[in-house]
Order: sequence, then C-alpha cells, then structure tokens
Amino acid sequence: MPVNLDPDLLSILVCPKCRSEFRVDDEASELVCTNPTCALAYPVRDDIPVLLIDEARETKDAEASEN
Ligand SMILES: [Zn+2]
Repeated sequence: MPVNLDPDLLSILVCPKCRSEFRVDDEASELVCTNPTCALAYPVRDDIPVLLIDEARETKDAEASEN
C-alpha cells in the first residue's frame, strides 16, 4: 500500500526515539528512521503515522544484509 502523506506533514515528523527524519517505505507502508543506528520503522495506518516506539519494528538487521 503506497503511503499517502502530506509532504508538509512528513517534513515535520521526526523519529520519537532519536529525532531523525523519516523516509517513506511504500511497500511496507512504514516510515523508516533515516538514522542507521536507530532504523526503527513505524507503521502507517489509514494514512496516519503511528509514531510510537512500542509499535515500531527494528529494520537494522534487514538493512545491513541488503547493503
Ligand atoms: Zn530513529
């Protein structure tokens, strides 16, 4: 599901854990923290980002093996 977020909204959102910016992962419908040492992915439900650390998943291991 492509993530349909207002670019202005996206530009002000930051990771609640490390305060880094996000990139959008359309395939997973997630906002992914751009900080490689954090790299949490937050779900987007009904075009609403759920910026809760409890709801986020770690992407660090997956990203490392891809690169
Ligand atoms: Zn982060």
